[in-house]
Amino acid sequence: MSPAPSAPAAAGHLPPVPRVEGPLALHVVYPGPGDAVDARDSSFLLGSTGTGDAELTINGQPVSVAPNGAWLAWVALPPDSVMRFDIVARTPRDSARLAYDVPRAPRPPAYAAALWIDTTSIAPRGRVWLRPGDELPLRVRASEGAALSLHLPGGATIPLTADRRPDDVPAGIRAFDRDTLNLRRAPVADRYTGSVPAVWIGDPGPVVGADTAEHADTAVALLQAVRGSDTVRVRWPVRLGLLDTLPVVVRFDDDTARRGTTDSLTIGRALPGGTYTWFFPTGTRVAVLGRINNDLHVRLSDAAAAWVPAGDAQPEPRGTPRPRAVVGSITATPREGWITLRIPCGDRAPFRVSAAESTLTLHIFGAAGDVDWIRYGPADSLLRRITWHQAAADEVEIAVSLARPVWGWRTRWEGNDLLLDVRRPPAIDRGAPFKGLLIVVDPGHPPIGATGPTGFRERDANLGVGLQLRTMLEAAGARVLMTRTTDSSVDLLARTQLAERAGAELLISIHNNALPDGVNPFTNNGTSVFYNHSPSVPLARAVDSALVAQFGVRDLGIGRGDLALVRPTWMPAILTEGLYMIVPEQEAALRSPEGQRLYAQGVFDGVERFLRETAQR
Ligand SMILES: [Zn+2]
Repeated sequence: MSPAPSAPAAAGHLPPVPRVEGPLALHVVYPGPGDAVDARDSSFLLGSTGTGDAELTINGQPVSVAPNGAWLAWVALPPDSVMRFDIVARTPRDSARLAYDVPRAPRPPAYAAALWIDTTSIAPRGRVWLRPGDELPLRVRASEGAALSLHLPGGATIPLTADRRPDDVPAGIRAFDRDTLNLRRAPVADRYTGSVPAVWIGDPGPVVGADTAEHADTAVALLQAVRGSDTVRVRWPVRLGLLDTLPVVVRFDDDTARRGTTDSLTIGRALPGGTYTWFFPTGTRVAVLGRINNDLHVRLSDAAAAWVPAGDAQPEPRGTPRPRAVVGSITATPREGWITLRIPCGDRAPFRVSAAESTLTLHIFGAAGDVDWIRYGPADSLLRRITWHQAAADEVEIAVSLARPVWGWRTRWEGNDLLLDVRRPPAIDRGAPFKGLLIVVDPGHPPIGATGPTGFRERDANLGVGLQLRTMLEAAGARVLMTRTTDSSVDLLARTQLAERAGAELLISIHNNALPDGVNPFTNNGTSVFYNHSPSVPLARAVDSALVAQFGVRDLGIGRGDLALVRPTWMPAILTEGLYMIVPEQEAALRSPEGQRLYAQGVFDGVERFLRETAQR
């Protein structure tokens, strides 16, 4: 892409950028010293000239300077691995010039040799365990047009085939670039894939538990590339072992050191390094399917499996049978703030809960249903019915239908009984919808956070907005808990635990945005609100549209995000990305009490609309 002219973003209803006329002081805020930029042909730089009457060019291209001296530039990237930007600022009195060097994020190495195999690209590598009969996908970069094969220690040869898919689109561009042209990538011809059968290659040690033995490389597998009369051979840096034919059973525990500073949950992913998909409480038992380095592959049911951190898995004694839960009769107990379902499982089976409108569904894996009785207790205005069915040979599904949309839920084990608390929506006074509600306001960061072109920090913007929001909410009759009121760092876990332990009815996390390298900030800035669980969608929508009404900037809409602050399930939780720290006009607005007030007012209006709508449902 050619660089777009740098134009100021639409100001909307934001307060005007104040005029600053000072001495010329040319600064680059991002990329900072040593920050490597990971982008193809264009990316952004931001900083300040210290004065609003400066004119700025970067590599000869004019860049607009805001009245307070802030600037944001979308620039063409030089092809070099260390990119030099010639930044020139001029005022009627003065001029400054900066030769600013920015390294590119490492790219796949280029090889001068006629025939090559890129040993850094071989995946997987390290220690791998498979079940007998399984196969392992192998990927490697090598010269185009070569014949690749893998030679196993026993003498077998596995051919690899050229993988001619388009080059990968960086995750940040996929997620945040509205320009679909940037999703186009040319096919690359230097990648190869193959499927390796489960055979021993050396010895990776035991699949779980302590490994005290020394392992010498007794057997190795070789990757070979042939083209014309050239041949290259490299070692596949892997030790591959096969699992015992007896099941290997593990129990999850994410706090073996007993520090008590964890969430007592083991994260499950659909692929190594993937997004959070399951949350297994401590004590959950599963059988092992394999392992690649620190990612343990575990069986949930015949049809479902997850990758978990190997360090969370404690081995059960050899010979322990594969866990199998039997779900017995279910009892519901209505309580003041929630309804508790007691579900006897006979084993701590893996499970997950999903919410849709006014139904909560509990999926229990590796389980057979033997639910003779479902007892509701006294008539309850929230609980409509509980149904169960055997969804697959070893998966049980329990659906809880409610008279109102789901507000929140939580789970815990008591022995081998799973307890599911279904939260009652708060009583909302239509005349004074905030009255009596407990709301947690979380000003995002520190640690970390974005920085604007004049050096204003996101943490300060978020706190200013949060404190104004607290004042508004309290004036409307709510009780407010702040996760922080000072500049000190607060852990993410401490923030969500505060909301959960206090039994807050809503959790609102205040943030302001930045973009990944390579995404144009002029066409991709605006307001967005993130949620994680579907009961939070109406709140996210209401706050997003109220914020857009206040700011008058582009509506980027709501989004589901895998973010810690929206993961709690006990209350609707949203994370607002009201404005962009990196856009000069928006940074200036966030710096001003008036801009912070607009932001707080937008959140307040959105929550109020959500509460009034909830009261009518
Ligand atoms: Zn943030």
